[in-house]
Amino acid sequence: MAAGVNPSDSSLAAIISSSDYDEELAALAYEKKKEKFGDAILKRGLVEFTNCCRNDCLYCGLRRNNAKVMRYRLSEDEIIETCANGYELGFRRFVLQGGEDLSFTDESMCRIISGIKHLHPDCSVTLSIGEKDYKSYKAYFDAGADRFLLRHETADPSHYSRLHPSDMSLQRRKECLYSLKEIGFQVGSGFMVGSPFQTVDNLVADIRFLQELKPFMIGIGPFIHHKDTPFAGYDNGSPQLTVKLVSILRLLFPEARIPATTSLHVIGTQWREKALCSGANVIMPNITPLKVRKKYELYDGKNKVE
Ligand code: SAH
Ligand code: SF4
Repeated sequence: MAAGVNPSDSSLAAIISSSDYDEELAALAYEKKKEKFGDAILKRGLVEFTNCCRNDCLYCGLRRNNAKVMRYRLSEDEIIETCANGYELGFRRFVLQGGEDLSFTDESMCRIISGIKHLHPDCSVTLSIGEKDYKSYKAYFDAGADRFLLRHETADPSHYSRLHPSDMSLQRRKECLYSLKEIGFQVGSGFMVGSPFQTVDNLVADIRFLQELKPFMIGIGPFIHHKDTPFAGYDNGSPQLTVKLVSILRLLFPEARIPATTSLHVIGTQWREKALCSGANVIMPNITPLKVRKKYELYDGKNKVE
């Protein structure tokens, strides 16, 4: 695959079909990353502020039907203080992530966002809190939020419906992503690699959807099963294929922020570094207070590796 060329569906499918790590592709992608961003690796502090969620995504350990989760939510002050501690450590970009927790009202989110921006006007705030109405997104933006991460998870509607309950839809997810763009957020999207029932054609569709959306950031990571979900018995996604897709995405989206994700690190500590040598340019160290960190378990083993 050459830089600057949009490959056909069949040639993309051919590259994706083999999950072998591809040195040549990785080197090309690394060159492209260096050309656009130099040697820098961008760093964001991740604050997992609530593990309460009204959704029931079949893959996720925080789904509402998982009664084994010890639920927590940080207070508004704790969230602002966590960012202040992160600031002391040198972080200037914060990602506030959580389940879809309705006890954080729009007013509450806006107080948190403006509180952080007021204390640290030189920082950016990224939200990763799922699907909301247009007016809620707009309120967060007006309060000072800069970016929003919402993975589309899979761009194939029938695959989407096998990963989510019937009250969720790909169409709604896409509407949210386009609303966020329209409002002016720098938007991140992405998908899991190796989620149950995923085909090579699904992955090609994921890439095509991203080409249509033109996100600022693209997050992908291997699916990792969680023991207390309906997908407990399914195989984990391939880290080799994930890194290969990182390279493909770097070549297709030279300017994108592409993180080397935690799930890659969890599946094998070497894979996060591999991703950074294969086109990824962002890491998101977890700065969540230690007293709650273990409870934010999206997938098995998430908090065992640091
Ligand atoms: N509730 C928000 C943010 C938290 S989930 C949201 O859903 O957008 C953040 C991401 O974790 C999801 O987008 C999903 O891609 C990823 N995730 C959830 N369960 C996972 C699993 N079992 N394996 C790998 N990634 C997972
Ligand atoms: Fe909730 Fe996000 Fe997990 Fe879905 S993926 S259950 S929305 S935390």
